[in-house]
Amino acid sequence: MTATDDCLFCRIVRQEIPATIMWEDEHALAFRDIEPRSPVHILVIPKRHFASLNDAADAMLLGRMLLAAREIAEGEGIAQSGYRVVINTGANAGQSVAHLHVHLMGGRTMTWPPG
Ligand code: AMP
Repeated sequence: MTATDDCLFCRIVRQEIPATIMWEDEHALAFRDIEPRSPVHILVIPKRHFASLNDAADAMLLGRMLLAAREIAEGEGIAQSGYRVVINTGANAGQSVAHLHVHLMGGRTMTWPPG
C-alpha cells in the first residue's frame, strides 16, 4: 500500500469518496469543506499527493492553486467583500489531513490573528 492508497483527499481525487466538486483542471481540484467554518469554505488540492506545503516544490502548480482560489472566490461572490486563503502546514498549524490543501474561506468577517 502506498501513501496515497489510504489518503482521504487522494480518494476524493479518484472519486472513491463523494465530494461537492466546485472546480477542476488537469492538476488540481476544488471541493466544499465537509465541516465549513465560514459561509464559503472550499478546499483546493493538487491531484498529485504531497503531504504538505513542505513537500511541494512545483511553482506552477502552487501558482495555479492560488489562481484557482481567486477564480472560485469571484464565482462565489466574495472577491469584493474579502476572503482568506490558508494553508495549514504541520502540527502547530493544526493540519489534520496530510495532503496539501488551500482553504478558501469567506462570507463573514474574520479576526486576525487566527487562533
Ligand atoms: P486541515 O485541518 O487544515 O488539515 O484541514 C482539513 C480540512 O478537511 C478540514 O477543514 C475538514 O473539515 C476537511 N475535510 C475532512 N474530510 C473531508 C471530506 N471528506 N470532504 C471535505 N472536506 C473534508
